[in-house]
Amino acid sequence: MKFETLAIHAGLDIGNPSKAIIPPISPSTIFEIDETGLKEGDFHYTRLQNPNRQQFEHVIAALEGGEAAAAFSSGIAAAAAILQSLETGDHVIIPEDVYAGNRKMVTSVMSHWGLESDFIDMTDLENIESHIRPNTKIIWIETPSNPLMRITDIAAVAELAKSNNIRTVADNTWPTPVNQLPLELGIDLVLHSTSKYFGGHSDILGGAVISKKHDEFFDRVLTVQKMGGAVPSPHDCWLLSRSTRTLSYRMKGHNEHAEKVAAFLVDHPKIADVFYPGLESNKGHEIAKKQMKGFGGMISFLVDGDYDETIKVVGRTKLVKRATSLGGVETTWEHRRSSEGEGSVSPENMVRISVGLEHPDDIIEDLEQALG
Ligand code: PLP
Repeated sequence: MKFETLAIHAGLDIGNPSKAIIPPISPSTIFEIDETGLKEGDFHYTRLQNPNRQQFEHVIAALEGGEAAAAFSSGIAAAAAILQSLETGDHVIIPEDVYAGNRKMVTSVMSHWGLESDFIDMTDLENIESHIRPNTKIIWIETPSNPLMRITDIAAVAELAKSNNIRTVADNTWPTPVNQLPLELGIDLVLHSTSKYFGGHSDILGGAVISKKHDEFFDRVLTVQKMGGAVPSPHDCWLLSRSTRTLSYRMKGHNEHAEKVAAFLVDHPKIADVFYPGLESNKGHEIAKKQMKGFGGMISFLVDGDYDETIKVVGRTKLVKRATSLGGVETTWEHRRSSEGEGSVSPENMVRISVGLEHPDDIIEDLEQALG
């Protein structure tokens, strides 16, 4: 079955005995146990499993090409579950420009539990190899990176990791499986903040881990999911399954609109630089072309001016909303350094935009008047 069809049909029959075309929400926290006793796979208690969660886990695993998935109540809970499945004293290699929340989780939480880490430039394979230690257990990829849109060669990193017996994780939140399939390129685990494009309407927090194989390590992730308890509600899982049915078409729109906005920004005299993997000027463009079907809806750029001038530009939009996060149908943008807060390394004149699904002419018209 093709991707678009899977997104609409996969998992709908799970826990749906009435064969409703749109499965009902199952808010019950408990399920009646058969008179012959509880059997493997039966629903029992919603923290452990729920029909709506199972439906969503089924569809996201199918779309990423994995054997199994575990859904969480946020993207960061999903990331934490992967790291909590390691042993004390294990070492992870992580991009220096990894999503700021994941960096903080590693440095302020997991380090107390004995996790060792190196935050490095992941665009350079030799650099990655030189940081491998005997206790390295995970190489973590986020491509395109945030906010500089650096590109990592997924297949090359997967090969290097395999030859050193190291597990790989790819945060596929930004590209989504519509644009990039890390498991097909040799990665072991995919991570998502489903709060972004999977949710797609800026109204759900969620996360997921998808595993190429349902192996012993994934069983550990499942144990953290069930015993850590950061599980999504049945209602959120139901909403996520609903949004996923339109994911392919929303992503095609985000890709198309972002390409137009990037082309507009590149030519604008008030813009000093534009970071978008679809631009030939992007350092990682050739690798991006090889591993991405579309370049996504996120763009970062530098205003030709200082902090004050950049804040003024961001403040002038009427249609484009000032907000963090990404992946909604509405276009949003933010002064990235203000949003990242203390310790941010983003330039003072950097703006990050999540290009939405409004007509691109309206988005560009608003940006044009804001840039002045
Ligand atoms: N990964 C990436 C790439 C993100 O952009 C984010 C959130 O911004 C996360 C993970 C964390 O997800 P959540 O906010 O759902 O916890």
